[in-house]
Amino acid sequence: MLTASIELIAGIIVILALAILAVRLRALDVAGSISGALISFIVFLAGGFSWFFMIVVFVGISSAFTRYRYDYKHKLGTAQEKMGVRSWPNSIANGTVSVIASALWIYTRSEIFAVMFLTSVAAAMSDTLATEVGLLSHSQPRLIIHPKKLVEPGTSGGTTILGDLTALVTSLGMSIVGIVLLVIKTTSLSNLLISFAAVGIGSLSGVFFDSLLGASVQVMYRCLVCGKATENSNHHGQAAAYVRGIRYFDNNVVNFVGILFGSLVSIAVYFLITK
Ligand SMILES: [Zn+2]
Repeated sequence: MLTASIELIAGIIVILALAILAVRLRALDVAGSISGALISFIVFLAGGFSWFFMIVVFVGISSAFTRYRYDYKHKLGTAQEKMGVRSWPNSIANGTVSVIASALWIYTRSEIFAVMFLTSVAAAMSDTLATEVGLLSHSQPRLIIHPKKLVEPGTSGGTTILGDLTALVTSLGMSIVGIVLLVIKTTSLSNLLISFAAVGIGSLSGVFFDSLLGASVQVMYRCLVCGKATENSNHHGQAAAYVRGIRYFDNNVVNFVGILFGSLVSIAVYFLITK
């Protein structure tokens, strides 16, 4: 009991310290950091430091890639807004499925929800990195539902080989990191391999589904100042013109649905192989 409460207090201190650091380093704004800390706390209650560390890896690496060549992406008009500082809608969109998986794991202690958790983080990170790295591609993106059609960089649903490879490497990489960190505690090698496959396939499915939604139902705008296609309702400080998609079905909603889809695929794969 005593070691459990010491670990809990240590966890709270580390989460608060990193939440403050994330604001100081301008990875998140205050609202984004508070929602991120709440998400992290539930994840920590489920899996302790090893699960929480997956969130730290996600936020740290995503933020580094968002800033990498920010000026270039900004010039293209495709950079994240506000110098890449992310806020609460982004935390909630990327973290909700991790929270659901953590809660299910707390109540059931079933390995499948550890697989679901790991997939949710892997899918969120793969999608973020594929976008940020894909924007640096020298070849023009193609629309995923119409691969012969070239689209402007930053168009939702546009994909490049560089972005696709990034998603592949990130999905498999996060799967390995999760297994090394013992997010999935299993003693048998076969279960470990099944988990690895389930997380990798689930995460990639999530990114793929995200792009499909991005190319079809996601709302897109056009900036009235620079004339570029954008996922944001505001660009260059002004309201942008509506072009296509369902209103309010923005990048954050698409991210959430993509991550949820990928996590459900990982559960299905895990079930199909183990049954
Ligand atoms: Zn603009």
